[in-house]
Amino acid sequence: MDKKEILKEFSSDPDRYYKVKLFEEQGFVRKSCSKCKRFFWTLDSGRQMCPEDSEDTYSFIGDPPTSKRFDYTQSWREVESFFVKNGHTSVSRYPVVCRWRDDLYFTIASIVDFQRVMGSKVVFEFPSNPLVVPQTCLRFKDLENVGVTGRHFSSFCMIGQHSIPNSGGYWKDECVDLDYRLLTEQFGIRKEEVVFVEDVWAGGGSFGSSLEYFVKGLELGNAVFTEFQGELGKHTTLDQRVIDMGAGLERFAWITKGTPTAYDCCFGPITNHLFEKIGIDSDSEMLKKYFTEIARGLENFDDLIDVRKHAVKNTGLTDDQVNRIITPLEGIYLIADHLRTLIFAISDGALPSNVGGGYNLRIILRRVIATMNRMHWKLDLDELIDLHIDYLKDTYSELDASREDVKLILKIESGRYEESKSRMGKIGTKLKEREKPPTVDELITMYESDGITPDFLKELDVISEIPSTFYSKLSDLHQSEKKRDIEKLPLEDLPETELLFYGEDPMEFEAKVLKVFGNLVVLDRTSFYARGGGQEPDHGIISSSKVVDVNKHGGVVVHQLEGQIPKEGQIVICKVDTERRQNITKNHTSTHILNSSSRNVLGSWVWQHSAFKESDHARLDITHHSPLSKKEVSQIEDTANSIIQKNMSVTIENFDRGKAEQHYGFKIYQGGVVPVKSVRIVSIEDFDVEACGGTHVKKTGEIDLIKITKTKRIQDGVVRIEFVSGPTAHQFVKHQKSQEVKIAGDALQKQQIEKQREERKQKAREMMPVLLEQISAINDTQTIDEIDVSVTDSTKFCFTSSDKFNEFFHINFGKKLAKNEPNSVYVGIFESGPTIRVIVYAGEEASKTKNAGLIAKAVSEILGGAGGGDAKFAQGGGKDTSKKDEAIAKAKSMVLG
Ligand SMILES: [Zn+2]
Ligand SMILES: [Zn+2]
Repeated sequence: MDKKEILKEFSSDPDRYYKVKLFEEQGFVRKSCSKCKRFFWTLDSGRQMCPEDSEDTYSFIGDPPTSKRFDYTQSWREVESFFVKNGHTSVSRYPVVCRWRDDLYFTIASIVDFQRVMGSKVVFEFPSNPLVVPQTCLRFKDLENVGVTGRHFSSFCMIGQHSIPNSGGYWKDECVDLDYRLLTEQFGIRKEEVVFVEDVWAGGGSFGSSLEYFVKGLELGNAVFTEFQGELGKHTTLDQRVIDMGAGLERFAWITKGTPTAYDCCFGPITNHLFEKIGIDSDSEMLKKYFTEIARGLENFDDLIDVRKHAVKNTGLTDDQVNRIITPLEGIYLIADHLRTLIFAISDGALPSNVGGGYNLRIILRRVIATMNRMHWKLDLDELIDLHIDYLKDTYSELDASREDVKLILKIESGRYEESKSRMGKIGTKLKEREKPPTVDELITMYESDGITPDFLKELDVISEIPSTFYSKLSDLHQSEKKRDIEKLPLEDLPETELLFYGEDPMEFEAKVLKVFGNLVVLDRTSFYARGGGQEPDHGIISSSKVVDVNKHGGVVVHQLEGQIPKEGQIVICKVDTERRQNITKNHTSTHILNSSSRNVLGSWVWQHSAFKESDHARLDITHHSPLSKKEVSQIEDTANSIIQKNMSVTIENFDRGKAEQHYGFKIYQGGVVPVKSVRIVSIEDFDVEACGGTHVKKTGEIDLIKITKTKRIQDGVVRIEFVSGPTAHQFVKHQKSQEVKIAGDALQKQQIEKQREERKQKAREMMPVLLEQISAINDTQTIDEIDVSVTDSTKFCFTSSDKFNEFFHINFGKKLAKNEPNSVYVGIFESGPTIRVIVYAGEEASKTKNAGLIAKAVSEILGGAGGGDAKFAQGGGKDTSKKDEAIAKAKSMVLG
């Protein structure tokens, strides 16, 4: 939808869309900006331009327009008390990891808290009406601005003021009146300073008018009145109109403090701590000028690099001042901001990784480290985390509990970065030799494939600036990952299938065939569990045909059959395969048990990533930073089995979604989003609570046993636990035991063979003098004790490949034989580890025609290796054991001709 079109339409009828009661009562006048023509409302009749074009833009820096000074936490207290005083409920923030929407990784606005998906529609569910919430929002689209512009954050607090105009809520008049009084009464801003600008908002098929409110050029908030749906002109009014007023808490603090940047008043004691540690000697007059120039420049230039250049020039800064003051300041702000974001995200269960939303967290931590390295700062991240949490816990008390977890995760992740630095450094050095700096696309590829951030390249001096479009391009690339496809069937006209497995759950039932597509059958009711939530479908029989697959399409269950397909309208008898169902059910409850067991053993960051429950095996993928150790695996298994031993009750209750979230928190969404109003809560006493649509045992004791069969780190930040439960677990244990017995038996047998071989070798060694005597006495061809002797006119050839002779034997026997009999040649072939070796001796006479070195070389080549020596003694070998016979034949032919 074209926003400009809508704005034109709405601004052509201001009385209807924008003129609120307050404007009339107070005498606001409507004006059109002399520069950009936008319409705005003001009490200052002399004002000619909109707040963004006006001369006084950002003049609050160094000259705050309020009589009161509030920092970040104090500002929230002021805002909260004002709205509570005026009939609002103050709601705690929702997690920054947006587990209730499958199209968002992170909560990006306060209104997202209350949006739930119902089929293809978004509905609003408010825990109370009206309400106000200090919602931490994460946005990674313009990371390059953070630390530089004075007002961009990777996470910020959106003051959400929300209302539905019925049952206690209000609409435009009261909303704007409240916002105006918040600024003037609570914050003490002069009435003439408040300017409302006409705008519109459109998204997700709905739209409405909005009033942005500014003070001294700083946009403090935007009151959106979501009211219509459809195409402009053909639009209709929504059943559920919503007030979505979002304001930046950081900006409220900033306007009252008038510091050079919003960072100076929003990170509590961190910035000062860093100033002292690093020792920046900043001149506040200069900084005020510089950051005012930056703020104004942002309206005039598209590229941040130009904004910065322009501000440096207009403030009259030298290169030395930029390097000594501006660059370190930007680093300090960046570190403070990024750490705060990491604290919120990790506390809410996200992990840095290279997949999904986790990549954002990895990239910002790497920016922190690269900045510290580039600036040669030694900073204690643990100390900074403590400072942040100590300051924030006033507003967000929940952060206190995850303090140590955040530290641990950052330590592990920093270690990983340090480990990969030498590899990344090599790639970086190569790049440096190139003539052209890398393009944005090349930078993105480098990050995606090697984890190399542009900040690291900046640290290495490969690039001097990070291209402005890098982070937004990267962000777009990752945005669309979180979507799933559902196969479409023409089922619109069919009623929803009655799901018997959520009721009586009969294993045998009668049903009517409503629709047949080829081998796919839709019934009016079914007890066959349809594939969902990682639980595999039931099998069994419908009429006389086998049920091989069952899927749910919206509310309609579709059975896939093999064999004769029943006809539409027919009444059929259906039987569920109970053994399969029972096994799958045990595996499903086991995933819940293992999930909570893993969290208890490993840490709060463990969430179910995905799960799969078949009849004879199952797996649970959890979010965790490292592969599991043997000890961790057995601890998890022990915890799980102790829950089975306690025979805990598994209860299933249906709750209103909002109530369930308020009561249990968002931990219930382990299996993903629940797209219905009523959620099915499966709880294992006080051990585990999840929203889940699967089948479960009634008591954990029914599972009897859980065995983890294998664990594996399947991707960055995700570990797979493969397991079996119930009878399959017992079979596994039995099999494992018999395997152990077999392995022990094999080992014993091997040991015995080895012992026999050693005995034979010992015997051979002892027999050496006797053998030498016997062979000396021979003058014809025969075999003595596995040594073949061939005698020709001039040579006596002795050869053996018996495994009873080892290297010691061949070396000593061959040497003595060659010495005793100058016309003899000895060749011994034997296996040694993975190779076949050959040892050749030739006596004084024989060596003149039968060169030992040449024989060893030729034999070794056949064996795929190399060998050599002199005419009297040589050795060699190769790995190709299949050529052993060929090698023996070669040796014989070389000696005997
Ligand atoms: Zn303007
Ligand atoms: Zn489940």
